[in-house]
Amino acid sequence: MRFDIISVLPDLLLSPFAHSILQRAQKKGIAEIYVHNLREYATNKQKSVDDYPYGGGSGMVMTIPPFAACIEKLKAEREYDEIIFMSPDGERLNQAIANQLSIKGNIIILCGHYKGIDQRIRDIYVTREISIGDYVLSGGELPAAVLVDAVVRLIPGVLSDETSALSDSFQDDMLDAPVYTRPADWNGYRVPDILLSGNTPEIEKWRFEQALERTKTRRPDLLE
Ligand code: SAH
Repeated sequence: MRFDIISVLPDLLLSPFAHSILQRAQKKGIAEIYVHNLREYATNKQKSVDDYPYGGGSGMVMTIPPFAACIEKLKAEREYDEIIFMSPDGERLNQAIANQLSIKGNIIILCGHYKGIDQRIRDIYVTREISIGDYVLSGGELPAAVLVDAVVRLIPGVLSDETSALSDSFQDDMLDAPVYTRPADWNGYRVPDILLSGNTPEIEKWRFEQALERTKTRRPDLLE
């Protein structure tokens, strides 16, 4: 799977993909993640990527030409399944969307800044708009990193224990059960006996009950 992220601050995206599971996925060749510097596609002398909003008002708006040039260049090289714009007014990211995207081949992600991007970029190029939650961030880079992380860890072969993504929260519209590790007794705080019993069917049953209870109390909406 290949991601091409278009950003005016590409350095913001260096670290999130350079560690742990995302780094391993790239080393294994399961995921390719490229970050393109939008400014390199600016054609004017000042290399500007934003301009004043028509109609007045505060905040700058990102212009069409640099995005168009970068998207057209990428599209000439390969076909893309989705061109996603990270935006607070998009559909809210959830595990179902991450699952859908994890079986795609090539995805372009556009990161906005300032007041946002010229609406015509969205009308002409964008196939999907995704928000990571009901709050506003300064740019689309952190949202893009969140999206890529959520998607890449679902691609088969990325997690060493493949079933572990399946038992994560939200996969069955349920939260995950609590987890424990050594020591079994820490200053009198003990791990539930059942987890030390070695009785796998009973442990599975306990985990299911715990997950259900947690979902009922914390996120009853998931069970509806
Ligand atoms: N004026 C816009 C917000 C612009 S914030 C509005 O009110 O909708 C600047 C950029 O940050 C956005 O274009 C988008 O790419 C990104 N961004 C901010 N919050 C986000 C969120 N919750 N989810 C996804 N992207 C977000």
